[in-house]
Amino acid sequence: MSEKITSKKAMELEDKYGAHNYHPLPVVLSKGKGPKVWDAEGKEYFDFLSAYSAVNQGHCHPKIVGAMVDQAQTLTLTSRAFYSDVLGVYEKYITEYFGYDKVLPMNSGAEGDETALKLTRKWAYEKKGVPEGEAKIIVCENNFHGRTITIVSMSTDPDAKKGFGPYTPGFIVIPYNDLDALAKALEDPNVAGFLVEPIQGEAGVMVPDEGYLSKAYQMCKDKNVLFIADEVQTGIARTGKLLACDHENVRPDVLILGKALSGGAYPVSAVLADDDIMLTIKPGEHGSTFGGNPVAARVAVAALEVVKEENLAERAEKLGRLFRDEMKKIDSEMIELVRGKGLLNAVVIRPKNGKTAWDVCVKMAENGLLAKPTHDHIIRFAPPLVISEEELMQAIDIIKKSLAAFE
Ligand code: PLP
Repeated sequence: MSEKITSKKAMELEDKYGAHNYHPLPVVLSKGKGPKVWDAEGKEYFDFLSAYSAVNQGHCHPKIVGAMVDQAQTLTLTSRAFYSDVLGVYEKYITEYFGYDKVLPMNSGAEGDETALKLTRKWAYEKKGVPEGEAKIIVCENNFHGRTITIVSMSTDPDAKKGFGPYTPGFIVIPYNDLDALAKALEDPNVAGFLVEPIQGEAGVMVPDEGYLSKAYQMCKDKNVLFIADEVQTGIARTGKLLACDHENVRPDVLILGKALSGGAYPVSAVLADDDIMLTIKPGEHGSTFGGNPVAARVAVAALEVVKEENLAERAEKLGRLFRDEMKKIDSEMIELVRGKGLLNAVVIRPKNGKTAWDVCVKMAENGLLAKPTHDHIIRFAPPLVISEEELMQAIDIIKKSLAAFE
């Protein structure tokens, strides 16, 4: 694996030997640092996807990589059959950081969501008194929580769902940002939880009305239903606060984190909750060989420290405002709408002369900025939060120049 290959060769290999479950832009990356990445031929780009908001702390952050290398040379995996001398330290750190009694460590975001679903059902049977096998969980239309059978069972996206049945039962799907629909669904006494993304990322950065989360939280409280926030994409400073729920002072009963919990260095996810909920899961009832492994534990502590040390939430808030203001000033017929919070933003693209969001992304890549369309007509702009104001302005110039090419 030491020999360098060309971009053309790398794409041919992926196409021939890899499953075709993704449709990447034709760019082959071989190096990253901070907000920038380089392709196999050395061309430089601004990364405005950040691996779907995993690389909030920037590519190859020295502190995170340092912790990872140090631990990798010491002890990588124990499984949870034994204790490790770093897991408890991480558990104390993350629970104090987010203000919960306990954490349950997993690897991918989807596993975090699966864990939260199991925990919610267990709590419903043991604490709420829902009859065994009858628990229901409310979810929202256009949600994205991952790719497992149960998670696609809750999905309303035909691409994610069709052809993968039979589906897991026990979900009530309501429109997002609709409190009346939530009130109606909450009337069912077997409802155990309401699972929601504070901003729907994959749906195209759908920001709900102000007050939606806090009112939804209160409605759940009134019915003894758990409010479960999937902050896998929105969490860890991305939207200008540590958690997107913080914008409305909502403390979820169950909090799911992933992606930037490792700064993109390693698959690390986590579910946080208080004892009353978390201790309903007993030894042997849930787990993962790699969940909470020593490398993950060290990486996550370093990644969370970086968020505070480098004031990433404040940076995201300030630079996000600047980004939206500048985007709104661009005079292009293709810009239909600009929306977002912090540095999680989207531009809705109006097709022009048959040119779509995909063509705009290809043009931006030519000009040195990487972003990916979601749902054909939306481009998400989510750079690493360590980007400087000067770099952000350079990136905005690339976006302007790329859109101008279609005028
Ligand atoms: N939840 C949300 C809100 C996400 O955006 C994603 C991924 O984009 C996931 C869960 C799934 O995470 P993973 O791809 O790590 O399984």
